[in-house]
Amino acid sequence: MIKKLPQSQSLAVVLLLSLLLLLLSPQWLVLQRGQDLSQWLRLGLLPATMLLLLLLSLQRSPGRSVWLWLPLALLVPQEWFYQLTYGKATDAHAMAIIFETDLAEAAGYLSGIGWLLFAALLGILLLFGLTSSVLLVAQLHWPRFCRPLIWGCTLVGLGWVTLQERQYAIDYPLDPQADATQTALSRRPLPQSHNLFYQSFPLNLLLAGNEYRVQQQALSAVAVKSRNFQFGAAQPEVLGERQIYVLVIGETLRPDRLQLNGYARATTPELASIPGVISFKDMISPWAWTRMSVPVIISRKTAANHSYFFDEKSLVAAFGEAGFRTYWLSTQSPLGVHDSSVALHASEADEVQYLNPVGYKKEGFYDEVLLDAFQRVLAKQEQKQLIVLHTLGSHFSYTDRYPPAFDRFLPSGKGQKIGMHDKANRELLSNAYDNTVLYTDFIIAGLIRQLQQQQAIASLLLVSDHGENIFDGDCDKSGHGHNTEFDYRVGALWLGSELFSQQFPEKTRQLSLAARQPLLTSQTFHTMLQLADIHYPSQQSKLSFASPAFVPQPRLLWTGVDFDHAAKTGQCRQLPQGQAVLGQN
Ligand SMILES: [Zn+2]
Repeated sequence: MIKKLPQSQSLAVVLLLSLLLLLLSPQWLVLQRGQDLSQWLRLGLLPATMLLLLLLSLQRSPGRSVWLWLPLALLVPQEWFYQLTYGKATDAHAMAIIFETDLAEAAGYLSGIGWLLFAALLGILLLFGLTSSVLLVAQLHWPRFCRPLIWGCTLVGLGWVTLQERQYAIDYPLDPQADATQTALSRRPLPQSHNLFYQSFPLNLLLAGNEYRVQQQALSAVAVKSRNFQFGAAQPEVLGERQIYVLVIGETLRPDRLQLNGYARATTPELASIPGVISFKDMISPWAWTRMSVPVIISRKTAANHSYFFDEKSLVAAFGEAGFRTYWLSTQSPLGVHDSSVALHASEADEVQYLNPVGYKKEGFYDEVLLDAFQRVLAKQEQKQLIVLHTLGSHFSYTDRYPPAFDRFLPSGKGQKIGMHDKANRELLSNAYDNTVLYTDFIIAGLIRQLQQQQAIASLLLVSDHGENIFDGDCDKSGHGHNTEFDYRVGALWLGSELFSQQFPEKTRQLSLAARQPLLTSQTFHTMLQLADIHYPSQQSKLSFASPAFVPQPRLLWTGVDFDHAAKTGQCRQLPQGQAVLGQN
């Protein structure tokens, strides 16, 4: 090192160190959330520091290579914001939200801190400019052995990661039956490095970015298969009125917990006070996992089809063919193991908005963000609209799904960490679950009120994706996917506007009849299209429970078992396993 300007050299070192601290600062938040110190040092701070040093060592003069840090440094404020707000590091879900949602319209991600963010970014830019010029003026260079030392350490680190990956591939072999796309989207365990470094800023950004890219590519590959698919759907031009068709995909909503269906608690006070709401008391879903049960609701995918992705498009595309402007508003996740099969169909819509930057794993935003988004869509006053809302509803953790004002059935354990699988929490879970239903009542009633203010032929259908076990009776099960009666029974309801009933009195009458008929969520596709008078060559009116031609169907589950004729044994009301292999979740 040339010792010319010792004073400016020490200033340069101080500036460089402050940049390093800035870049590593989000790591401190991870430690604050209670991560084990040695783990934090080993898998958080150390690899991140190595990455930064590697970048800095790519040129002999740090005054030049320091600019390689700039893109990462500019992301530091967003990482702080994200971690402080949502309690986790930026992941592929966050990336998808950022890249795929119109932020200006979405739920106000970053809202209110725009100027603060701008100031922070400007400050960072100035700091880089200053540091680089001081480093250059001071002619600070890497000492001779430093760079090879950093490269050597990096190689050792990469070697270690490679060994970890190899062991991981042995421990978690890929399913040889699954094709490449399914593996990427549904079955692929994340690389081990992802599990190790996902909280280590800025490594998490690289990992999340890569994860997002791989999933997007796989999803596009699936979408190609059905790209040219057409229903040949059309709507006869007889209606002069505006038309709005709404499908709300409910989450984990049990029919027996609805006051509307006779539940003793007042869980649906608002819906109970709206005249004309028809509650379908005997509907089942043939699947009990979101990623399998939602495609069955919105497309013609049958219960017997066990592949993750369907070759046909969904009702979203069919409405599009019939001249509707189509919207998909969601508080669920745009990608990942549980969501890609739904996201595939969401992408058929003219406009897709993912409104919850967190997904179901944390509290995130409540479903009420959908009310504002819904209002914005209605305000467009388009003549023909289809609006699909994918809610988080009653997804576990129950207490994360509703704001404090809806914490009515107590004790619910809101604000505490309540384990789902500990039977001792039975009462808390049951109360919290009822609070989620109370909140869903508020959401659905809110949508209905907005719809009633429109002068339109309007229809709102709510269908839940599956049910839930909540340690019912002496049953030792909680959650869903246990092949019990509680898994398959779902809450569902419908309301049409006055204009709808005037236009289609026979459909309204049939829907009242359907309130007590045995229904399947898989009839939703046929019902939605028939409600809107959309016709297509392969149409089957007997599958629409809004059609006078409706014929109740045998209710076959994904296991091949006939739900109505099979024995339901024990306190859990367990169904027989049938032909399918259980536990493939
Ligand atoms: Zn679900």
